[in-house]
Parts: sequence; C-alpha cells; structure tokens
Amino acid sequence: MSRPANPLSPDALLEGLLSSPFGRSLAKQLGLPEGPRLRRGSGLPTGPVAYDALGEAAREDAPVLAALVRLGVSTIRPLHDEPATRTADPDHGPQPPAYDAPLGGVVLDLTGVRSVAVLESVRAVLRPAVRGLEACGRVILVGPVVEEVEGFEAKAVARGLDGLVRSLGKEVRGGATANLVRLAADAGADDLASTLDFLLSGRSAYVSGQAWLVGRRRSAAERPESRRIVVVTGAARGIGAEIARTFHRVGATVVAVDVPRSGEALGAVANEVQGTALQLDITAPDAGHRIAEHVAERYGEDARIQAIAHNAGITRDRMLANMDEKRWAQVLDVNLAAQLRLNAVLLDPTLPGGYAEDVHIVASASTSGIAGNRGQTNYATSKAGVIGIVLALREAYADRPLTVNAVAPGFIETDMTAAIPFVQKEMFRRMNSLHQGGRPIDVAETIVYLADPATSGVNGQVIRVCGQAIVGA
Ligand code: NAP
Repeated sequence: MSRPANPLSPDALLEGLLSSPFGRSLAKQLGLPEGPRLRRGSGLPTGPVAYDALGEAAREDAPVLAALVRLGVSTIRPLHDEPATRTADPDHGPQPPAYDAPLGGVVLDLTGVRSVAVLESVRAVLRPAVRGLEACGRVILVGPVVEEVEGFEAKAVARGLDGLVRSLGKEVRGGATANLVRLAADAGADDLASTLDFLLSGRSAYVSGQAWLVGRRRSAAERPESRRIVVVTGAARGIGAEIARTFHRVGATVVAVDVPRSGEALGAVANEVQGTALQLDITAPDAGHRIAEHVAERYGEDARIQAIAHNAGITRDRMLANMDEKRWAQVLDVNLAAQLRLNAVLLDPTLPGGYAEDVHIVASASTSGIAGNRGQTNYATSKAGVIGIVLALREAYADRPLTVNAVAPGFIETDMTAAIPFVQKEMFRRMNSLHQGGRPIDVAETIVYLADPATSGVNGQVIRVCGQAIVGA
C-alpha cells in the first residue's frame, strides 16, 4: 500500500507551489477552478427551504412535506418564473423573480409528475431557486420510480428527472448540490426522513448529481445506538478510520479490523472510538469465523453484527499489458473475494457473533468500477464486482429484512491517493462539479447514513461520493 509522498519530491514541491497564493492565482489563470469550502457536519442549511408538490398525481399523504415537518424544517412557497412575474432589466432583459434572502434549498415533490407539460412548472420553480441558493445550498427532487408509473409518457418523464438533476448538479455553484430521490409508491414520510436529513445536511457535502431509490423500511427495529455492533474493515487509517469515528459519533460500538502489520494504528483508532480492535487479514480463509468469534467473545453469545462496512481495499495499478498474476490476484482477493467469503460465513443467522437478521451491509466500490480507469483493470474489475455483490445479495435476500448497498467514492484525499502523480491528482481534484477532492469523512457519513436503521428503505443502491466527477458521470 502506498505511503504519502516525500515532502521534497518534485511532486510534493509542485503541490506546495500550487497551493500557495501565487500558485492559486496561476491555476485560476490556467482555467483550473478552485473548489469552494464545503458545508460539512449535521447542520441543515441556514436559509429557508422552498417546497412545492408539482404534477397531476400528487399523493394525498404529501410524504415529502411530512418528512420535512418531521425534521423540523420550515418551508416557504417557491417563486415561479413566468412572463407575468418577471421584472424588466434595461441591460439584461426580463429577469425572473428573486428571493429576498438566500435560499437554504429547494425540495420538490415530483412523485405526481406524469406529463412533459408539467416539466415546465419544474423549470419555472427551479430557475429562481437556483439563482437564489445560499453557499452549499441544496436542490432535492423527489420523483417517482420509473417501473411503478404507467404509460410511455409517465415513464419517460420520470426518467427525464435523472438528466435534469445530473445537469443541475453541474450548473449550481458555491458548493451547492443537486440530487434525485426516487420514492416508492408504498413508502412514506417515515421512510424518507433520514434521506432528506442526509441530503439537506452537510453530511452529504460531496454527493451530487446522484439518484437513488427509497422504499419502505425493511426493519422498523429501533435499538439503542450503544447496542449496535458495527464492524469496519481496513479501519487503521484513511476512510476506514473515519468510518469508525463516525459510527462512534452516532453511538455505535465499533469493531475495528485491519491487518496485523497496522496493529499499532488500529489499536489507536479502536481506543479513540472506545471499541475493540481485531488484527486480521480479511483474506485469511477463516476470517469470517474470526470476526464472529471476536464479536461473540467480546459482546456475548447473543451478540450479532448490526452493520458492516466492507472498506478494506488495495490498489496495485499497472496497464493490463504489464499486469502479472500477482498484482491481479492480490487486488481481486482483498477487494472482492474476501468480501464474498466474509458474507457467506457471517450471513448464517445461527452463527454466534454473525450478522443480525436485519444487518446493514455497506460495501466500498469506486467510480473506477463504474467508469473504468486506465491502469486499473484489476481494481475496476474488483469494484464493479462489489456492485455485483450488492445486486446479487439484494435479490437473494429479498425476504430477509437486511439491506445491502455500496458507496462508490471518487477522488478522496487519503494515503491511497497521495501516491498518484501530482498533475493527475490535480486533474482528479478539479474535474468534478465541486472542483475539489473529497475527504474521508464524506465517504464515512454516506456509509453511516446507509447503515442507519432509519434508512432501511434504501436497499441495493450504489451512491457515488465523488463530487459528481466527470469520469463516468
Ligand atoms: P487506505 O488509506 O489504503 O486504507 C485501506 C486500509 O485497508 C489500510 O489500513 C489497509 O492496510 C487495509 N487493508 C488492506 N488490505 C487488507 C486486508 N487484507 N485485511 C485487512 N485490512 C486490509 O485506503 P482508503 O483510501 O482509505 O480506501 C478505503 C476504501 O475506499 C478502499 O476499499 C478503496 O478501494 C476505496 N476507495 C478509495 C478511494 C480514494 O480516493 N481514496 C476512491 C475510491 C474507492 P495496509 O495499508 O496496511 O495494507
């Protein structure tokens, strides 16, 4: 595994230069946009949130509004851009109506949209709203599930929202994001609330241009957070350490797993989060049983794993023309085969210390596994395979109240990415809608959101945490 670059290396010196005031001004002149400071943490937007329900088949239970009320978000009626509401501007022609104060966000219930004609109302609301967004404001569209609506036009329009939100993600500025939630017809406010909370808060800082489905919660079991046992693999550093900290922040009991050679760093993380450390190479044939034994020994025979973050992963990059069997096998074994073996063992509901009946499994994929990446045939195969695991488990365990989802991080600032040559790294950082690399906390927050029992209506989904990277967007 790669280590941070030597501070005197040409790469590190170039990086230092470009982060200096002179370098930043040079980068600007070269047309390399610098990213805004993102709003992170659990806080909601400061400005008001504009809300409306549009479309001819609006649901009587108004699930989106009810979820906002549950979250304590007060809403205002949005302005509409129509010829009659525009004001004259001698220099720039008629201007859309403007909000008096910056908007924290706009949340539109579009679950009732069935016709192309209604899309005009969507535009009319969004135009003033995106102009009026505060820094790091939010655009959240809640649409129908394509497969659930009847008729060619309704299906086409439901699908069209995808293109709208992905383009809007690329247009909004100042750290704002745009995302689409597809709400199942049988899901309600209680199923949606945790997702709206995640999207409005700074926990979703680096998630933009994404669409995922929220259905009915598969498990209503409420367990005191302190009794939730969560396993994090690859927890000694990078994203894994941050996942452990974030689970600890929400009150879960963390079992931190990493290779024995990282024992000291792993122990430090486990101590910090008041959890337990398990030194284990997840590729060991008995790794699943070792995890279960650890959980049963430390937390009792009846203890079960309520959530797991399959985060451990490695890269061994080479063009395929130069790829030997060792690099190929190492990556596939750690990133893919080990995860398959762990799940196969731990999914046995009778195994002391195994997965709970309603476990939340969250796997770390990668944008490389979606879009492909030069020099990463082994890695991209393994990460696309991880998405395959998610889809296969969802199907196989449709009758068990567990959830299985994946995050697909883009460029995240960790030791893994520190070794990428500087120019390439700068390109990865800038070539996304938020014009910066993500932080481990961005991935950790998304994983903890997916592992939350309140989010158990989200199943079989892949959420990219990539700032809407241009690669494969
Ligand atoms: P990282 O800094 O290299 O940390 C990964 C951790 O996993 C390390 O502590 C590593 O230990 C451990 N690990 C490796 N092999 C293991 C094994 N066989 N058993 C147990 N632990 C093992 O990586 P990261 O950047 O935090 O990435 C975390 C995950 O996110 C990975 O799955 C990665 O593929 C994925 N991801 C990262 C990015 C990014 O930009 N950083 C982007 C997309 C996806 P050693 O270092 O000692 O081997």
